[in-house]
Amino acid sequence: MTWAMAKISESTEQMAFETKYETGGPDRTTPAEANAPWLDPKIAERYLWLEAMVNHVPDYIYVKDLQGRFLYANHAIVSNNGLSSVGDIIGLTDVDLHGKAAEDARITEIEQRVIETGEPDLGFEEKAMRGGPDRWLMMSRVPLKDRNDKTIGIVGTSRDISAKKAAERLIQAQARILEMIVSSVAIPQFMEELTGLVEGLAEGIHCAAVVFSADGAAPLSTTPFISQLPDTLVEALASSSTELLRDTVSRLTSGAGNLRCFEILSVSGDHHGLISVSTSGNQLSSSLIEFLAGASRMAGIAIDRRQAEEQIRFLAEHDALTRLLNRSSLEQRLPDILAGADLSSRKLAIGFLDLDNFKQINDTLGHAAGDELLRQTAARLTASMGGNDIVARIGGDEFILVLHEDDEGFEAKFGRIRSLVSHPLTIEGMDLQVNCSIGVACFPTHGRLAPELFKAADLAMYRAKETGRNSLQIFSPDIADNARRKFLRAEELRRAVERDEFILHFQPQIDLRTGLVSGVETLVRWMHPAEGLVGPSDFIPLAEETGIIVTLGEMILRKACRQARKWQDENGRRVRISVNVSPRQFQNHDIIAQVAAALKESGLEPSLLEIEITESLIMQDVDAVVGMMGELTDMGVGLSIDDFGTGYSCLSMLKTLPLSRLKIDRSFLTQAPEAERDSAIVSTIITLARSLNLDVVAEGVETQGQADFLRDAGCDHGQGYFFSRPVGEHAIEALLDRRY
Ligand code: C2E
Ligand code: MG
Ligand code: MG
Repeated sequence: MTWAMAKISESTEQMAFETKYETGGPDRTTPAEANAPWLDPKIAERYLWLEAMVNHVPDYIYVKDLQGRFLYANHAIVSNNGLSSVGDIIGLTDVDLHGKAAEDARITEIEQRVIETGEPDLGFEEKAMRGGPDRWLMMSRVPLKDRNDKTIGIVGTSRDISAKKAAERLIQAQARILEMIVSSVAIPQFMEELTGLVEGLAEGIHCAAVVFSADGAAPLSTTPFISQLPDTLVEALASSSTELLRDTVSRLTSGAGNLRCFEILSVSGDHHGLISVSTSGNQLSSSLIEFLAGASRMAGIAIDRRQAEEQIRFLAEHDALTRLLNRSSLEQRLPDILAGADLSSRKLAIGFLDLDNFKQINDTLGHAAGDELLRQTAARLTASMGGNDIVARIGGDEFILVLHEDDEGFEAKFGRIRSLVSHPLTIEGMDLQVNCSIGVACFPTHGRLAPELFKAADLAMYRAKETGRNSLQIFSPDIADNARRKFLRAEELRRAVERDEFILHFQPQIDLRTGLVSGVETLVRWMHPAEGLVGPSDFIPLAEETGIIVTLGEMILRKACRQARKWQDENGRRVRISVNVSPRQFQNHDIIAQVAAALKESGLEPSLLEIEITESLIMQDVDAVVGMMGELTDMGVGLSIDDFGTGYSCLSMLKTLPLSRLKIDRSFLTQAPEAERDSAIVSTIITLARSLNLDVVAEGVETQGQADFLRDAGCDHGQGYFFSRPVGEHAIEALLDRRY
């Protein structure tokens, strides 16, 4: 062993000698050569060739003794360690050469294992001790054996695999980016990890990223490495001037050297943000630039995907028109909000807000105007909310507000919101004012759970609507009592319809010129088993609200037609009968079938039937209602406008509607003929009706003076207590032939 070491250290030729043993190739040496083979000139020549080969490969090749001392190292090792000849390295250990780095790399440990086990260690990748942190080597070590197969040292080779390692890092980083896209990582986290990955690709790289909000304005998120951004970029970002920013980015995007910017673009080319990369030393390698260009493209895809997902999630939780929360997401959040308020012993108020007459605006001005009104209202509501307050749109023109207690107090706050909503607004160039009704329930006073509170606020809102709209109503127990009573009354009414507890009364209409009865108006009464005769104002509004009016109305129509036909059949009287019809009967086209059935069933001449409608009906859905009015007149049925002058007067429409009569509301007559103003109104309506070729009936004639005034003013007919109150079937029969 001492011999072998001494010989080998003296001359590189000995390497060939050892190599022969190591490779274990066929032994072509003569016995003489085996004793001193290097003396053979042929063999010496082969040694030289081998040495030349070993010194020319770029890989590192060395031989060490059992103590880890270099016996030989090729040129690659000698020059890599900054030495001038192989002699400088022989006898040294890795620790002598590299100090602590060699200890940390645990080289001795690995080499000792190879020596002890006699097993080679092949293809081991380790960080190089020299040449920077990104330099990697692939090491192979095999035992060096003597003739007797005894391990006497180690032969090692290593190869620089830095480029392969760098490529692997790029692939891994790329895989991680793809993984993040697939698992929809949130954008700030995505960008943070992306910049981290970039910084991990090579030593001395600084990476920063900026992502803009969906509207392309202010930065949505910046990575923590924002301080690494070039000053020009930081300034451009701070200026919030899109132009300056674009300019700066494009300069940095095309830049060379050790600073580059990569734009993050959406698939459709929108500007999502940017990635900025700088190196402290070397220029960015072309493979790195290529990777960064790809990474920024992938970041664009990630942001696209995330934004699309966020949009879907947003739409699931929000109302698309107003962008407010929708009902289901409010209901999802409310239990936690209530629990939080409970824990902190704080009060909350839930407000149900409903726009007054929204349907009318929608129907008359069109849906686009209705949508705009809802959007503007939503914006006003949002602006009036406090930090934790919530506003949601739960359908149509209904909003729910969840307000937290503060110094202002709930009533004042809701009052402020109500007047804010009622401020005039401009829609499609038109100035409008829309009032609202608000019902409020408080937590915990009026309920502890969302459904209870919703119910209480809803009831309070209905009370606000009932009390003339445009008001604010805080829930109270009597509201609930009232609602309960109303509910029971509706049930009673429903049963009454089933049992047919309704009778018709009739009020004569008098031809003011002849004094003869020209027709009768039917007015319904409820024969209540306990309360006696109940007037229509006590149950018609409820019947309308609950929809019971549709069945009840049909019943009244049939009774009225039968009655008129009966008069004709029994006495040959052709009495024109007027029937009041509710707007609800016009919904779903019900009225047409009802009238046709009543006429058919009774066999009444259509011209003896007159339908009284209200002005408000016409304003609801002009086209549909006008269509149905046309169908009715086509059947030969007369149409009159009841209570004319009290509703939303559609004077301009009067001449296009298929009407036969106007009924002047009795409120205009109460002061006439004494009050000049009222008399003037009545005279004007009469003149208007005549100019439109419409017959006129004045309602509520109570005195001779009123009757005279009307006749003189040219009014065709009068109806009122002066002639007769509404009376039952038999009483009216006695009046039909009377001359007034
Ligand atoms: P309306 O159609 O305007 O009927 C006229 C109302 O004025 C009747 O009240 C009638 O009794 C009352 N009236 C008539 N002459 C005078 C008068 O000289 N002085 C005063 N102060 N009042 C007079 P009624 O019967 O209580 O009906 C009230 C309303 O209920 C009706 O107003 C109508 O809108 C509705 N209504 C009545 N019957 C029906 C019906 O069968 N169907 C529908 N949908 N509504 C009905
Ligand atoms: Mg009427
Ligand atoms: Mg009337």
